[in-house]
Amino acid sequence: MKTARKQTGSLTVITGSMFSGKTEELIRLARRAMHARRVVQVFKSALDTRSEHTSIRTHDDVRFEALPVADSATLAANLRPDVEVVAIEEVQFLDEGVVALCERLADRGVDVIAAGLDQDFRGLPFGFMPRLMALADNVVKLHAICKRCGAEASRTQRLIDGRPAKWGDPTILIGASESYEARCRHCHEVKGRPRERGRTRRKRRAASNGAGGHPELFPEGESLQNPGLPGSRR
Ligand code: ZN
Repeated sequence: MKTARKQTGSLTVITGSMFSGKTEELIRLARRAMHARRVVQVFKSALDTRSEHTSIRTHDDVRFEALPVADSATLAANLRPDVEVVAIEEVQFLDEGVVALCERLADRGVDVIAAGLDQDFRGLPFGFMPRLMALADNVVKLHAICKRCGAEASRTQRLIDGRPAKWGDPTILIGASESYEARCRHCHEVKGRPRERGRTRRKRRAASNGAGGHPELFPEGESLQNPGLPGSRR
């Protein structure tokens, strides 16, 4: 397939659960841009403790050099004026300012590739990731394999001492004795999940235990029915 390369400047978001291969895909795209002799800079969140300070690492131990940054302002300050491709690993750990930065860069002709989790361990949208994905030109959603049943996994199961983490636990907990595994929607477990309407598998007791309800999940009075797409009426 022939691809025209006249107009550059785009935002690609690589997302999915943990172990879905986001880092591999980010490295693949960054390498490809380097082979094309483009000026590439790779950044990562300084919160990422999975690998050495100045590199990113896949679960298969492939390493790639990356500059750790604490926030979006530091990232912006470290950009080369001639940069053509910017890759950002663990973008969900940066501040929301990174969304506007990605947009600005893409508008200016830079190809931005941002990899990050789309859901937290509860299965809820992760911070500003929904906005970043909505504004992206391309969204690549990758899947892992469910550790329980072998189906395609879209969720990250958080385990504390081998048991599913509770709903009320903080989202980011670095350095704790915890582990994660990929699970599908049906095998994903969160203790104390508030009752959700329309769910067949109800967790008794969990409804009003004050573990931190999430009204945005199914706001009162909101219909889950099709609000009427064009052409849906005859
Ligand atoms: Zn499963």
